[in-house]
Amino acid sequence: MNIPFLDLQRQYKTIKNMVNPAVNRVLKNQFFILSAELKKFEDDFANYLGVKHVVGLNSGTDALIYALRALNIGKGDEVITPTQSFIATTLAITEVGATPVFVDSDPKTYLIDTSKIEAEITKKTKAILPVHLFGAMCDMDKIMRLAKKHKLFVVEDACQAHGATFKNKKAGTFGDIGTFSFYPGKNLGAYGDAGAICTDIPELAQKIRMLGNYGQRIKYHHDTIGLNSRLDEIQAAVLSVKLPFLDRWHKKRNTIANLYNRLLHKTIKTQQIAINNVSAYHLFVIEVDDRDTLREYLEKKGIHTLIHYPVPIHLQKCYSNLGYKKGDFTCAEKNAERLLSLPIYPELTEKEVRFVANSVNQFYSL
Ligand SMILES: *Cc1c(COP(=O)(O)O)cnc(C)c1O
Repeated sequence: MNIPFLDLQRQYKTIKNMVNPAVNRVLKNQFFILSAELKKFEDDFANYLGVKHVVGLNSGTDALIYALRALNIGKGDEVITPTQSFIATTLAITEVGATPVFVDSDPKTYLIDTSKIEAEITKKTKAILPVHLFGAMCDMDKIMRLAKKHKLFVVEDACQAHGATFKNKKAGTFGDIGTFSFYPGKNLGAYGDAGAICTDIPELAQKIRMLGNYGQRIKYHHDTIGLNSRLDEIQAAVLSVKLPFLDRWHKKRNTIANLYNRLLHKTIKTQQIAINNVSAYHLFVIEVDDRDTLREYLEKKGIHTLIHYPVPIHLQKCYSNLGYKKGDFTCAEKNAERLLSLPIYPELTEKEVRFVANSVNQFYSL
């Protein structure tokens, strides 16, 4: 067997007859920036999420940066966020000049430990930036309650959680602004870089649209200092073709995750999904001893795995100036050493999933 960690060619084969004409339509029209394809995707995605506004941007990282900027978060402000995430979450905070204040992970869900947030709130705190990591949603009831009590903004990092739900409400739609990445490997992926924000607040949507278009609302009239960050027409056309499949893919990911859980629960721990939550299962992570040896064992059988993420953000070299040290967030540090991601994508066959799970079980019965 050869089971790649992710195989986008398999998905492309199933939608090629729709994607190719969509891309060709853009090539024929020769409108590449801020035109009809983007408008359509923004409307469709807003409709899918159940929000009033979606604004396409260049990437998920930009979505996070522009969200914080639109909320006037910058120098002297603190933003509370998990240390266990992809680095981009924190890069956005430091990019706007604010200070990230890290919180440890919950040992079962691997998400921000909501019981530890309140202790970190100071006079300087402006926002909470939770991450729906691996596709599983944080406890948004608790986070929204804390935000209301302390008058804080909430920006959700939903870059791994397209279509995930908490009590039947979609990821990204709880806070002031939700942020999405359409990096090719994400659950809804473009064929290049792309991202978006969603919000119900029209002023925020308008501000972010201006910031991403040189700070102008009327051409060549610049009301604020903006930059250039746009979701281009080719990517928008691809995303519009893919969006109607998202729910089907989401269900397939959940079927695969259920099968993994059923086959593996006697051997190892997997990410716990809280009741009332449906994960988007961007990643399927297992918590294991002897991770490196297991990886080698699986690799020899043709099963490719990855580590998300080997170093928690508070221990990254680029943030040594923040003054954190090893031992500050024991759960996140333990997870960095113990979590392993198995292949999960809608096109995996049941036979492949069983082969992966059985191989993991075999390793621990040796
Ligand atoms: C992918 C990702 C991002 C950044 O998205 P890009 O489109 O790659 O810039 C941010 N946060 C998380 C949790 C991600 O997984």
